Amino acid sequence: AASITLEGVGKRYPDGTEAVRELSLEVRAGELTVLIGPSGCGKSTVLRMINRLVEPTGGRILLGDEDVTRVDPVALRRRIGYVIQNVGLFPHQTVLANVGTVPRLLGWSRDRVRRRSAELLELVGLDPKQFGRRYPHELSGGQRQRVGVARALAADPVVLLMDEPFSAVDPIVRTRLQEEFLRLQADVRKTIVLVTHDLDEAVRLGDRIAVLSEGGRLEQYDSPAAVLGAP
Ligand code: ADP
Ligand code: ADP
Repeated sequence: AASITLEGVGKRYPDGTEAVRELSLEVRAGELTVLIGPSGCGKSTVLRMINRLVEPTGGRILLGDEDVTRVDPVALRRRIGYVIQNVGLFPHQTVLANVGTVPRLLGWSRDRVRRRSAELLELVGLDPKQFGRRYPHELSGGQRQRVGVARALAADPVVLLMDEPFSAVDPIVRTRLQEEFLRLQADVRKTIVLVTHDLDEAVRLGDRIAVLSEGGRLEQYDSPAAVLGAP
């Protein structure tokens, strides 16, 4: 695992929208930090700046002690797993093929990709024999979400970025996925930044919580207990 450090990071989109302002925070190695705040406050933009889908217009972002702009994009993709709401699985590929996306891009052998993908499916609680050959539309929402997590873990990234990973499923499934995810994290110990607008989820999952407000301002960055106890 590696820490993630944001130093005075800002993003102004070309149309003038100030999505994030002077954001500084450190996500410690092996910890899960939750970004919480109202819709439009810049949470997704922060994740997308960390994995360089969006370029910051100010400040800098370090992965460990390396500036992410200096890391080669393929290496960065390997080191950062990304999970989004509704997962974005490739509809015309099987579950196994979806999980193997990043290892394939990395040029792993067919056998190694297949073995790793099956192992990952087991890890997220899906029997590869039962589910590996299915297509995404043949899965429930919760199962698709698990495949998304498996895919993000496939190349053994040091960091996981998760954008509303559990919001697209019903509340009962969500609670179960959250509990399973906590157990998984106890095993894999990734550095994780998870975006949500659900305070219960933030408190249940977060080692630390960053509260953002409109215009990407950091209001608070503290333990769940301290955030809950705040006036
Ligand atoms: P959140 O994830 O908290 O809902 P976002 O990071 O998606 O917030 O968006 C933050 C702000 O930036 C919003 O006002 C949004 O409309 C704006 N925004 C997001 N992407 C773009 C873009 N590509 N161009 C212009 N504005 C954008
Ligand atoms: P391509 O354009 O090469 O087909 P995509 O950009 O669609 O690939 O990404 C394929 C998958 O790789 C995504 O669905 C996602 O799971 C993963 N991915 C995409 N971007 C990143 C990233 N920055 N870091 C880690 N994984 C990523």
